Amino acid sequence: MAAITGEFGLEAKIASSKISFERVNKIYRSKKNEVVALKNINLDILDNEFLCVVGPSGCGKSTLLKILGGLDDMTSGSIVLNDRELVGPGADRGMVFQGYSLFPWLNVEENIAFGLKIAKKPKEKIKEIVDRYIEAIGLEKFRKSLPKELSGGMKQRVAIARSLANSPEVLLMDEPFGALDPETKSSMQLLMREIWEVERPTILFITHDIEEAAFLGQRVVIMSSGPGEIKETIPIYLPYQRGLALKDDPQFISIKKEIDEIIHR
Ligand code: ADP
Ligand code: MG
Repeated sequence: MAAITGEFGLEAKIASSKISFERVNKIYRSKKNEVVALKNINLDILDNEFLCVVGPSGCGKSTLLKILGGLDDMTSGSIVLNDRELVGPGADRGMVFQGYSLFPWLNVEENIAFGLKIAKKPKEKIKEIVDRYIEAIGLEKFRKSLPKELSGGMKQRVAIARSLANSPEVLLMDEPFGALDPETKSSMQLLMREIWEVERPTILFITHDIEEAAFLGQRVVIMSSGPGEIKETIPIYLPYQRGLALKDDPQFISIKKEIDEIIHR
């Protein structure tokens, strides 16, 4: 593997591209009108990269993610994952949405173990993985709790752990912290960043929150609407290990400003 431990972690750029969108278009047609949700999207997601997509409401972010997840089809173009053209949904793409999609009748450890059981992993292996992720999300005391006994932030921690436990090729996250209060949101961002710094999963993270995109991403893709297009992709030159104090750093503030300017250009 290429060196990925440099100052900014951006050396992953020399690593290979894991996912490629090639001239992807998506048009929603109804009797009354036609919406070009995605226009000529060319995008590479690199192996082990934390890639954020930011843009105003309606610019096609969710459409992009749903197509990659196989939940929606494209009008034209193709997506290649590990050199193979994508067709339909698959367990190789884990998803986390804003709503908490946990199984209400399963407790925390059962929720995290769910995909591993389906994949018929050996019992000891499942326990090892579940323990590791319960620790990573700091919910050791809640392993036997049902989702209804958890706060919103805790539920979302479980959803993230459940997706990561299946070691997906890529983790797809669509505004996963959009419904959380600011404080919980910040702590979730920190958790996500810490998990990524250690485990290096490939992540496509969608948000309309510029600060969130700048804090989490190694690169940020900026989209515009009507039609949904990629305006620009920028590398984020911030330290590899990021803490919440970074948000007050002048460099961070100027990156946020830069993204904001590109959005409103
Ligand atoms: P975002 O996630 O950036 O807010 P979306 O991907 O949800 O944007 O939507 C992009 C555009 O496509 C919007 O104009 C939206 O109204 C339209 N759209 C999304 N889903 C559908 C659908 N199922 N049918 C028709 N239009 C849709
Ligand atoms: Mg959306």
